[in-house]
Amino acid sequence: MNKILILSPHTDDAELGAGGYISRLIEDDKEILWVVFSTARESVPKGMANDVLLKEFLSVVKHLKMNESNYRIFEYKVRHLFTKRQEILESLVRIKNEFQPDLVIGPSQNDYHQDHQIVANEMIRAYKTSASIICYELPWNHLKFENQLFVELDPRHLDCKINLLNHYRSQIAKSRQYFTPEFISGLARSRGIQIGKEFAEAFEVIRMIY
Ligand SMILES: [Zn+2]
Repeated sequence: MNKILILSPHTDDAELGAGGYISRLIEDDKEILWVVFSTARESVPKGMANDVLLKEFLSVVKHLKMNESNYRIFEYKVRHLFTKRQEILESLVRIKNEFQPDLVIGPSQNDYHQDHQIVANEMIRAYKTSASIICYELPWNHLKFENQLFVELDPRHLDCKINLLNHYRSQIAKSRQYFTPEFISGLARSRGIQIGKEFAEAFEVIRMIY
């Protein structure tokens, strides 16, 4: 699999769920297109500019040495993606035709954030017959998660993930526990133990095409 499409409802979701795997994919020189649907301008902490999450995401992709052809940012209103469901599907179909990904990485259908559910459903609708599809884990949003695929991470991939999440100062300022290195490495360790490795990330598998 060489062409990888990453879908992130908000700017930090893919880093939280798949930051280690993303750093592995970049190391393996895969062609990546990373799509963000909302920069959550309406929910930034008081006193911060409303484009702070956009800027934080741009510093993440810059850190990863990505150029503008590697990412696309939509400015849908946070928690209102459901009002743009058909438009989102049409964008995903357009991206399918232009980019033709082999692997799509996105949120889970078992994720209960309203925006994540829209992206998860439209992702499956758009790519189910053309690409492998896997879903990343955001434990605080799931009632259940079917960890069928494990990606082993070396310590450097985990360091990279922690590093990427460090760019989100606006979220760290909100004292979100899942941004702490302790939580990120603890989850990677738990997933690693399940496959007899030091660190891993787990994914649900919707489709696997070889
Ligand atoms: Zn999100």
